[in-house]
Amino acid sequence: MEDTPAPIRNPEILYTKIFINNEFVDSVSGRNFPTINPATGKSICDVAEGDKEDIDKAVAAAKEAFKLGSPWRRMDASQRGRLLYKLGELFERDAQMIASLITLEMGKPYLQAYEETLWSADILRYYAGFADKIGGKTIPMDGDYFCFTRHEPVGVCGQIIPWNYPPSMFVWKVGPALACGCTVVMKPAEQTPLSALYMAVLCLEVGFPAGVINVVPGYGPTAGAALTVHPDVDKIAFTGSTEVGKLILQAAGVTNIKRTSLELGGKSPNVIMDDADLDDAVTFAHNGVMDNAGQCCVAGSRTFVHEKIYDQFVAKSRELAEKRQAATGDPFDPKTLHGPQVDEEQYNKILDLIESGKKDGANVECGGASVGGEGFFIKPTVFSGVKDHMRIAKEEIFGPVQQLFKFKTLDEAIERANATEYGLGAAIFTNNINNAMMFMQGVRAGSVWVNCYDVESPQTPFGGFKMSGIGRELGEQGLSHYQEVKTVTMRIPQKNS
Ligand code: ADP
Repeated sequence: MEDTPAPIRNPEILYTKIFINNEFVDSVSGRNFPTINPATGKSICDVAEGDKEDIDKAVAAAKEAFKLGSPWRRMDASQRGRLLYKLGELFERDAQMIASLITLEMGKPYLQAYEETLWSADILRYYAGFADKIGGKTIPMDGDYFCFTRHEPVGVCGQIIPWNYPPSMFVWKVGPALACGCTVVMKPAEQTPLSALYMAVLCLEVGFPAGVINVVPGYGPTAGAALTVHPDVDKIAFTGSTEVGKLILQAAGVTNIKRTSLELGGKSPNVIMDDADLDDAVTFAHNGVMDNAGQCCVAGSRTFVHEKIYDQFVAKSRELAEKRQAATGDPFDPKTLHGPQVDEEQYNKILDLIESGKKDGANVECGGASVGGEGFFIKPTVFSGVKDHMRIAKEEIFGPVQQLFKFKTLDEAIERANATEYGLGAAIFTNNINNAMMFMQGVRAGSVWVNCYDVESPQTPFGGFKMSGIGRELGEQGLSHYQEVKTVTMRIPQKNS
């Protein structure tokens, strides 16, 4: 974007402590953990490491803030909306700083981090508008009764987010929670605490009452797990791997039946018919799997291409991947399109899956290896000749690796598209309305795109079928997880009785 301010290459790191009750505090244990720059593999700084005791403190603060009669519970809904709107304005004001921190700790190219931060501001403003529009109904029930429903905030919400979209994940969670009047304990991913703590300080500047938003950095199996089993947490919202999603559902079940919403993994199909606009389809398919270095839950990681256009599609996909390879490097450089993977673990996992693809007999059209040198960079990789039984066809790779499959008929493509435990996104490229309608109906996924890929806006619900999750975020639907419906029935006294 033309008016994007230049990145701050060495942003001053002011906030490295746990945010509880509107204060930055050390961890109870006194322990810290390092935050690593994935472009260099070197440590940026240490951050206070939250654990069970810190989660206990944060939950106690959130519970206190949620008490009936507290400043937050007594605040007019319209004022809640104003505060949320102001948070959106501050995200926009400080987008340069937020984006710079994201680039530093996560390796996302700066321009993309900046755009994402502006988008996150839009989401906050979208939810701000809902704060004073959440109402119940009067119900014409049988008998001499007056019945109405109240949509009340669900209570203390534990929110556990991943590292791949730091500002979006923060606002997808806090936006609807605060609009509904809940209080929040957020556990950001261990890879990206710095941007989350900066967002916490913006919440402080906005003036949310103490305890309404608490941010506890730390590791998943310690701080995250403590949140999932805490008896005073009413709801858990989680975005991350399906593996951890299962643990969270179990924890919610064996404790206090926490309301649980999950946005998990995917292996999303993208079907290219032979009547599609080829260049458009190639570009969307490429961006749909390569953007954010492939670290996207809804990445279109299974591209099914009609046999008549397969060879052309492979050649064009290779060309785009090679172009991206040429724009790989320093994520602070505005010309960079392709940054590093977030950490060594992800990097090794992706390289292992690439090796499995080679062993299983898929053809490496380009890439297929690490970039080498410092940092966790992997070359944009295109595999052709991929077969459904291969590991790269079944497992979520979460890296810049495109799989190109061949198919003959739409029926076959739909069947193969659905042959996965996941169901997050799906797309079809075609100029035939009937093909589009057949696919849209037949595919089991939470988002279906026709002639585009991974297009979302604050208004559009997002979430998964099957093992891609439970519930929808964004849109009006995203509010439903943060409300309890209370049915109030009052006897109407009858005249002369
Ligand atoms: P990824 O593999 O993409 O890092 P994870 O599902 O491991 O995804 O992590 C997403 C979020 O879940 C992070 O904030 C992480 O710390 C947290 N997490 C990981 N393990 C657990 C767990 N056992 N309980 C609660 N949260 C966890």
